[in-house]
Amino acid sequence: MDQTLLMLPGPTTVAPRVLRAISKDVVNHRSAIFGEIYTETTELMSDVFKTQNKSYLLTGSGTAAMEASIANIIRPGEKVLNVVGGKFGERLRDIVKAHGGESVELAIEWGDAVKPQEIKEVLDENEDIKAVTVVHNETSTGVAAPIDEIGKLLRNYDALYVADTVSSLGGDRVDVDKDGIDICFTGSQKCLAAPPGMAAITLSDDAWKVIDSVDSNTYYLDLKKYRKSGAGTPPETPYTPSVTLIYGLFEALQVIKEEGLEKRINRHETAAEATRNAAKALGLELFPKEEVSSATVTAIKMPEGVTDKQLRGTMRNEYKVELAGGQDHLKGNIFRIGHMGNITYKELAITFSALGMTLKKLGFDIDMGAGVSAVSESYI
Ligand SMILES: *Cc1c(COP(=O)(O)O)cnc(C)c1O
Repeated sequence: MDQTLLMLPGPTTVAPRVLRAISKDVVNHRSAIFGEIYTETTELMSDVFKTQNKSYLLTGSGTAAMEASIANIIRPGEKVLNVVGGKFGERLRDIVKAHGGESVELAIEWGDAVKPQEIKEVLDENEDIKAVTVVHNETSTGVAAPIDEIGKLLRNYDALYVADTVSSLGGDRVDVDKDGIDICFTGSQKCLAAPPGMAAITLSDDAWKVIDSVDSNTYYLDLKKYRKSGAGTPPETPYTPSVTLIYGLFEALQVIKEEGLEKRINRHETAAEATRNAAKALGLELFPKEEVSSATVTAIKMPEGVTDKQLRGTMRNEYKVELAGGQDHLKGNIFRIGHMGNITYKELAITFSALGMTLKKLGFDIDMGAGVSAVSESYI
């Protein structure tokens, strides 16, 4: 067994009971027994999304849901406002373009969060914007966007509110109904702590109205088909789903229910605070502005004089702790510690013990226990 500790913004460590669940017998996906599992799983998903609307399961990673969220609502040439402050904002923009839409890009400095006022200005200048995409938790930069305030603003506009909560749902506050999010989606392998390979999406009545007025330009991800099959007897998916991964997602959602969503979010916030304090105690600098920093992943500037290979390589090879690097122009300039899913003080104590030793080995004149000490302080 690979004992490497995954401190990643996905995939996250999967609990033994979830791993046991995915080893159960595969059943017919057109059977009453699967219909029950499917229904219970989608209902639990709606609970985590905090919505009365129905949720749908897509067999695919989070990007499948990103694509479904766009491909079903726009016709070629229609405008979508994409808030872009990192890799995932860019991905939604590129998906709009791939489906023939016109992206109106609102570029935010990487490491900062969008302000609702900035969205308002673009909407007021462009009357024909059909949807606004916001990445709640920009995993590439460790920044959380104010999805609740953006929701308040968007209530005054016709544009659909599309929120990517792939790396926040189950770890940070998401309230689909209260925030008026029309299309919200997530992936299995982040805060939900299920194995990779499933995505879930939920849609408001307004979103369905738009979807019903558009010829979807995707076949596999045509949400009208998911709605129809989901309402069948038994409820099912249009094509063969990963029955096995749905067992895993169901069990992971049971874990969340047992822990309680509020408690789970508080646990993530504590982990985020402990991570920031510990990084600073080791003399490291945070990448994002602290007031907009994520509850589920912390981006840290690479200290002067070491390479990504040295730092993350030592962590991995010497101490068996896997951290994430930077993407694109942040490659080599930052590293990221994921603290989503099942992370407690234990994993953070190991991580910062290892990081202290790594920095010491690489020649930094530091108190190598200062990180662990800061973790303890944050939890007591
Ligand atoms: C991980 C992630 C996705 C989807 O990525 P997949 O690798 O396709 O699961 C989308 N948005 C955000 C913010 C993410 O962190």
